[in-house]
Amino acid sequence: MKALCLLVVVVLFSSSLAAPGHQKGFIPKSGKEWTPESLVNPDELGEFFEGDIMLPLPPRGKNGLLDERYRWTNGVVNYEFSSEFSSSQIAVVRGAMDDYESMTGGCITFVERSSESNYITFTQDDSRGCFSSVGMRGGSQQINYPQWCLDTYGSVLHEMLHALGFYHEQSRWDRDDYVTIMWENIEAGHEHNFDKYSDTVIGGFGENYDYGSVMHYSAYAFSDNGQKTIVTVDPNADIGQRDGLSQVDLNKLLNMYNC
Ligand SMILES: [Zn+2]
Repeated sequence: MKALCLLVVVVLFSSSLAAPGHQKGFIPKSGKEWTPESLVNPDELGEFFEGDIMLPLPPRGKNGLLDERYRWTNGVVNYEFSSEFSSSQIAVVRGAMDDYESMTGGCITFVERSSESNYITFTQDDSRGCFSSVGMRGGSQQINYPQWCLDTYGSVLHEMLHALGFYHEQSRWDRDDYVTIMWENIEAGHEHNFDKYSDTVIGGFGENYDYGSVMHYSAYAFSDNGQKTIVTVDPNADIGQRDGLSQVDLNKLLNMYNC
């Protein structure tokens, strides 16, 4: 009898895991289908390069941009909001900017633009993904925060970290020592999102590969078949967190800006 009960429990449990639709385990194809239970992050759903990176790329650089021309002068990031932001949405973005300032001890600051010529415009186009350029590009550059992106605080921070000069963690030259890319599970046409780059163009900024980076893709990013696209070499490692910067993310940022 005990064995039968256990069997029933196991069957019920596994069928709940396999539930279709927008249940836990769902892999949406666009940001509008994203829910907090989705297996991927909102910033992995754009149609942009690597999901959320605005082209063109700077001529050099992956995970941390080595070229100092793309850094914000003295760590000061100028910005403006487009008119479609509500006050509560502005509060979310401002909260993230405040967090960067306090995390870096004031080394990185965000200042509302007056006449500066290099600045971020925060936009909110729901028909496009969350996205950002990488580094300071010169002139106006965009970070797009649709509501479903604002709903995930780590994705708000993630896009800002792109703008400050960082790419995705799994682009590092040494990533194959830490993760296995499951090419057969990747949606056709999205394989380039899993390119890696040599250490002549990527800076590690003194840090080793970081499974816990807010810039790491989740295990199911760009999956076409519900199977993982990234398997960690360390079986106990979790990837794709979007709660906040890891200590390693912060260390690299402090190092990049000579804080
Ligand atoms: Zn990204």
